[in-house]
Amino acid sequence: MSDKEYTSQYRVPADPEILKRLEEYRRNSEALERLISDAIGLFSHRTEEALVNYIGSVLMQSFIPSYLAVFLDSPNVREPIRTIAYRNMQPWTPPVTIQSLEEYRAFFKLRQQSATYREIAEHLSNRGRDIALLNPELVVPMQGLNGLHGIVVIGSKVLDDDYSEAERMFIDRFFVFASIGLQNVMHYNRAVTDYKTDLFNHSFFDQRLHEEIAKAKRYGSQFSLFVADLDHFKALNDRYGHMAGDEVLVQFARVFERQLREEDVVARYGGEEFLALLVECSEEAAVQVAERVRRSIASTTFTFQDTEISVTVSIGITQYHGCYGPAGLDEPDAIIERADHALYCAKAQGRNRVCVARPGLLAAIDRRKRDPRRLRSERGCEN
Ligand code: GH3
Ligand code: MG
Ligand code: MG
Repeated sequence: MSDKEYTSQYRVPADPEILKRLEEYRRNSEALERLISDAIGLFSHRTEEALVNYIGSVLMQSFIPSYLAVFLDSPNVREPIRTIAYRNMQPWTPPVTIQSLEEYRAFFKLRQQSATYREIAEHLSNRGRDIALLNPELVVPMQGLNGLHGIVVIGSKVLDDDYSEAERMFIDRFFVFASIGLQNVMHYNRAVTDYKTDLFNHSFFDQRLHEEIAKAKRYGSQFSLFVADLDHFKALNDRYGHMAGDEVLVQFARVFERQLREEDVVARYGGEEFLALLVECSEEAAVQVAERVRRSIASTTFTFQDTEISVTVSIGITQYHGCYGPAGLDEPDAIIERADHALYCAKAQGRNRVCVARPGLLAAIDRRKRDPRRLRSERGCEN
């Protein structure tokens, strides 16, 4: 139905002013509807990269910015400002880095909306003007509960005309939601991540283990689980210092996770102990992975400042099968404890080795606790 027909039903004089006004309302309502549906899409991403990619795709639908660069505060105060950028819808490494968001923080304290680069430049020192190299058009604040946590730098439109008032309004409104979405992702990641090593933390591992047990029972599938513990780590700390120990833990985490698949869950259990959940993985395959981890750690030279440090790892493995998971061992703690016992075996047999939990293992460990000389000849522990 045309506007004219519509208004005539309501006996309103078909005044062109009213029609113009109606048209304006319709456009506004369409713009708001689009904003809402674009904003809803912001809340289903788990990584900052995925979220920024989504933001880029939304901006692409309305106008095509030559690039989009997001500079974000790091969760760890000692780390530099992070950059996530896209150009032509491809991940991109811009030719500049930002050292600090302080000057932007001061600027956006007084202003909640985007600014053209020209507007902001006079408030920046030479250092802050680094982004000038990008020839930016707009700088948009990302504000959260703690104030500014990032800025978005947007390049000129590919078609080279200026951003219209309506586009600026869309950007300002959209980034209010995008900031909340981004802070959500940052908080989620902080809640599931171990601060020191950047691996998952213990509580996230527990949650995933619960899910994996339920899945294995439902589908009769299997998974394997490792407990890995660095050998003689106390001596390493005593010899090189606690900070060197910390750095070894960080480097260990990188080597460890590189040996596992994307879908596996690698976590820091606490201290110098780590857990890995290998989904859909048989015991034989898990032993091969664990051996690979053990060998790569033993052959890695860890470095702290100018010091080269070597370390080894012992690993205990257990497997869980949904069809015949041993009765009474369905609880996550019991499964971890089984792998822990295999780890205990690996330590007792001389360290730097992989042991698999066997049904007789718990009894063997109990006997060994009573008589330590017996362990080497015990059944129930394989390596
Ligand atoms: P084992 O081969 O039997 O595992 O001997 P170990 O010395 O590694 O084991 P122990 O349990 O005796 O000592 C663990 C050490 O790990 C003691 C503790 O100071 C150190 N540690 C735990 N967490 C951290 C950490 O976050 N950073 C550093 N640098 N050391 C840690
Ligand atoms: Mg240890
Ligand atoms: Mg330990």
